[in-house]
Parts: sequence; C-alpha cells; structure tokens
Amino acid sequence: HGEASEVPVSTPNGTVYFGLHHPLVVVAGPCSVENEEMIVETAKRVKAAGAQFLRGGAYKPRTSPYAFQGHGESALEFLAAAREETGLGIITEVMDTADLETIAKVADVLQIGARNMQNFSLLKKVGAQEKPVLLKRGMSATVEDWLMAAEYVLAAGNPNVILCERGIRTFDRQYTRNTLDLAVVPVLRRLTHLPIMIDPSHGTGWATYVPDTAKAAIAIGTDSLMIEVHPNPAKALSDGPQSLTPDRFDSLMQELSVVGKAM
Ligand code: PEP
Ligand code: MN
Repeated sequence: HGEASEVPVSTPNGTVYFGLHHPLVVVAGPCSVENEEMIVETAKRVKAAGAQFLRGGAYKPRTSPYAFQGHGESALEFLAAAREETGLGIITEVMDTADLETIAKVADVLQIGARNMQNFSLLKKVGAQEKPVLLKRGMSATVEDWLMAAEYVLAAGNPNVILCERGIRTFDRQYTRNTLDLAVVPVLRRLTHLPIMIDPSHGTGWATYVPDTAKAAIAIGTDSLMIEVHPNPAKALSDGPQSLTPDRFDSLMQELSVVGKAM
C-alpha cells in the first residue's frame, strides 16, 4: 500500500491529523453521554489533560434491550454544548442510517461500532458523506474482514477512515472483557495506509489495565488512542468498570508523553 495516509479532521480548535507522521491523537470521554453537566465537565477535564477529541455515545448498542440505550438527540445537544465550551472535536457512534444526518451535524468523526462493522448499508452511507469515519474492529472480525469493511467506506468515496482495535473475543473472559490484539498494529501497518487507533478501555474491560495497555499501544506504534473517562465511574450508566477518573486520565497523559510517539 505504500505511503501512510493522514486523516485530517477539522475541529473548533483547528485541524487535527491522524496518521503515522503526526503526533499521537487522544480521544477521551465517557461511554455514554448521561447529561449536559457530566459531558461538559468531562470535556473540560480531558481537554486540560491534553486530549484532542471528546467521545461519548448518544445512541448505544447495548447487549441487553433493557440496559440504558443512550439519550439520542438530547445527548447530541449536550455534545454540541461540550464542543462549544472546549473546542474539542466530537466522536460519537452512528448505529442506524436513519440518524446519520442528525449525528453528522454535531460529530466531527462518525464512529461505526464493533457490532456494526459489517453493516454494509451503513458503511455505504457513511462512505457517501464527508465526515471522517472511525471504524471499530468487529469482535470476531479477521483483519481481512475489517479491511474489506473499510474498503466499503473508501469505495463509496470517503477516503478518511481510521481503524480502531478494541479487543476481540477469545476463549477467556474471566480476567479481561476482550483480548486486545496489539500485534495488529504492525500487521495493519504492512497491509494498509490507514491510520490506526487502539482502545484499551473496551480492549481490557478494566480501568486498572488501561494505563499499561495504552503505553504498550504507543510502544508498538499506534497513531491514536481512545480512552473512556467518567467523572464518577462507580455511577456510570455504561462501562463504569473500564472508565478512568479524570484524575487518573490526567496522570496517564503525563506518563504517556515519555513512552514514544510525540504528543
Ligand atoms: C463504545 O465505544 O462505547 C463502544 C460501544 O465500542 P465497541 O463498538 O467497540 O464495543
Ligand atoms: Mn463503552
């Protein structure tokens, strides 16, 4: 595939570039947008710590239909408020083609979740619009499946795709939620020009393992990181156990700056 490509994303704070030849990009925020206060507060904290993007789900793909499903359009308004307040770029998940236009008004990057990695009609739709796409690896997707899913977006006309490894399903879920495939970083580097992101939060499922795996991800060559941060993980409506507090995130960001890739 030759030269690594870059994905430019315009945010209120300026254009941020994802890619091998650019500084590490950090995306942080809660699993779900729970209310305006918590998302604005988290945005301020992760920005102060050095993140360039705020993440937060408005539409949540939960395993159980009885679990919190996200606040939908009102969560998008809260994300817009956080964007306005901090200038951070916004990354949020699109689950359904019907919500795409509404979400694209607020999001600077559209996230396709692991469970939708092979939702081909959704991939064609995000490929046919302008916003960059963050494509998470399906939990049982081979590298080939994943790259072909990315190809759907590229083939539809959108060149701005970032690949995010978020852990895959293996035989042992006792100590980690998923198995974070860090070896995929050099594999992708050989097979594709697209920028790479590692998500140690979903990758391990436990906050206590996030700092070490985030550092390992940088050491092995990731271009960017996605880290879940919640002001009160014990009270989170989703993914509390894997979420860092803003304080822990802040110290992690200081630790990361000595590992490798420039920040
Ligand atoms: C998320 O980012 O909160 C999420 C649902 O991720 P994944 O699709 O990787 O499970
Ligand atoms: Mn989550």
